[in-house]
Amino acid sequence: MAEKFECIIVGAGPAGLTAALALARAGVEVLVVERGEYPGSKNMFGGVLYSKGLHQLLPNFWDEAPVERPVARWGVSFLNDDSSMSLDFKSKQFCEAPFNAFTVLRSKFDRWYARKVEEAGAMLMTDTTVEDLLWEKDRVVGVKTSRPDGDLLADVVIVADGVNSLLKRKGASTLDLSPEDVSLGVKEILSLPPDAIERAFALSGGEGAAYTYVGTATQGIAGGGFIYTNKDSLSVGIVTKLSALAQQKTRPEDLLEAFKRHPLIRPLIKDGELQEYLAHLIPEGRVSGTNTLFQSGVLAAGDAAGFTLSTGLRVEGANYGIMSGLAAAETVLHARSLGDFTKRGLCVYPQNLRKQGALADLERFKGAPDFFKNSRLYQEYPELACQMGKSLFGVEPGPKKGVFALFKEELKGRVSWPQMVKDVVSGWRGLS
Ligand SMILES: Cc1cc2nc3c(=O)[nH]c(=O)nc-3n(C[C@H](O)[C@H](O)[C@H](O)COP(=O)(O)OP(=O)(O)OC[C@H]3O[C@@H](n4cnc5c(N)ncnc54)[C@H](O)[C@@H]3O)c2cc1C
Repeated sequence: MAEKFECIIVGAGPAGLTAALALARAGVEVLVVERGEYPGSKNMFGGVLYSKGLHQLLPNFWDEAPVERPVARWGVSFLNDDSSMSLDFKSKQFCEAPFNAFTVLRSKFDRWYARKVEEAGAMLMTDTTVEDLLWEKDRVVGVKTSRPDGDLLADVVIVADGVNSLLKRKGASTLDLSPEDVSLGVKEILSLPPDAIERAFALSGGEGAAYTYVGTATQGIAGGGFIYTNKDSLSVGIVTKLSALAQQKTRPEDLLEAFKRHPLIRPLIKDGELQEYLAHLIPEGRVSGTNTLFQSGVLAAGDAAGFTLSTGLRVEGANYGIMSGLAAAETVLHARSLGDFTKRGLCVYPQNLRKQGALADLERFKGAPDFFKNSRLYQEYPELACQMGKSLFGVEPGPKKGVFALFKEELKGRVSWPQMVKDVVSGWRGLS
C-alpha cells in the first residue's frame, strides 16, 4: 500500500515551503517533495527578497536567516556604449527593522527556510523527483516519484515545482506559457571582499545595493542587466525575453560577458572572482484565467502558476511565491473543513489569491508584459537618455540651448512625437 498524507507539496522553493509552513502550523499532515539534494541546491534568482510577507510568517526572520545585506541603495540606469543616465535612490530607513528587502543567496536561504518548515511539523523528502500525478477518474489522488517504492497518496497536492513545471504539463493546471511569456536569466556570483564591495557601491556598515541596467546591458534585446551586492560577493546577471533571444540568435552567456566588459560596469566588478554560474527561466506574470490554476485534488502555486511580476525596475517572484503558497494553504484548509477536495471544495483559491495580493497585483499590472515588449525601451530610449545627459552636462562652444530644444534635437530621427506619446500612454496603462 502506498503511504498517504493529507497534503503533498511538490517543490521546496518559496511557494511550496510557505504552503507547507502554514499547513503544518494548522496541524495538517504535510509532505514536501524536493528533487534537489537539499532545498535551494537547484534554485537561483537575481537576489532580492522583499521582507514583508516573510516577516508576517516568521517575525524578525532576519535575526537568524542567512540574509546577505539589507538593500539601502536602488538604482536604474539607461546604458549606451559609453554612458549611463541613472535614477539612484538610497534610504537609511531601508536598513532598519522591518527592513524592506535583503539580498539573498537561494542555496543558503531555502535550506534555512526548509528547516523552519520542518520545525513546524512538515516532513521533507529530498533527492526525489515527482514524475507524474496519480489520477482517479478526473481527480488527483497522489504523486508518482522517482523512488523505487514510488507512489505517494494525498487528499490534495500542491504543485509548486517552478516555472518549468513538469506537473503543469501533466494536467495540474491548464495555464499555458509560450516563449513570449518567459524570460531567461543568467547570473554569475563573483566573490569580492566586503570592503571592496562597499567602496565600489558607496555603501557602509553592511548596507546593500540593487542596480538594474537597461539598453546596451542586453545589446538592445528586451530585458536588462543587474548587479546585487551580497556580503562578500556580487550577483551579476542579465535577464532577456526568451523569444527575443531566439530571434536575435544570441547566446545569453555572450550577452553577460559583454555586460561585464561594459566600460561603466567593469570597474564595479573588476576584482571579482567567479564562484558560480547559474541560469533559470522566469514567467512573465500573465494571468490567463483563474480556473486554470486548480483541478480536483490539485492546486498550482508560485512560478508554476505564473506568479511573478516584472515592472521593469525589478523582478518580484519569491514574494509572490510566498503569497500564492499562503493562498494555496488557506484553500486546502477550507476544503479540509468541508471534507471536499474536488474542484468545488477548492474553488475559493482565486479569491484567496486575490486576498493575499498575488492575483490582485497581476491583474492590476496585466498590461506590463505587453508594455515591456516594446523594443524602443531597450534601444532608442536608453540612447536618447544618454545623449540628453551628454547635452545637459556637456558644455559646447557658442550660445546655450534650452532643455526642450535639446530634447527635440535628440528625439529627431529616433522616435516620433506621436510614437513617444503612445509609449507614455501604454506605460501609464501597463504600470499604474
Ligand atoms: C534571473 C532571475 C532573477 C530573479 N530575481 C528575483 C528577485 O530579485 N526577487 C524575487 O523575488 N524574485 C526573483 N526571481 C523570481 C523568483 O526566483 C521566482 O519567482 C521564485 O523562486 C518562485 O518560487 P517557486 O517556489 O514558485 O519556484 P522555485 O523557487 O523555482 O522552486 C521550485 C522548486 O521545485 C523543485 N522541483 C522542480 N520540479 C520538481 C519535481 N518534478 N519534483 C520535485 N521537486 C521539483 C525545484 O528543485 C525547486 O526547489 C528571479 C528569477 C530569476 C530566474
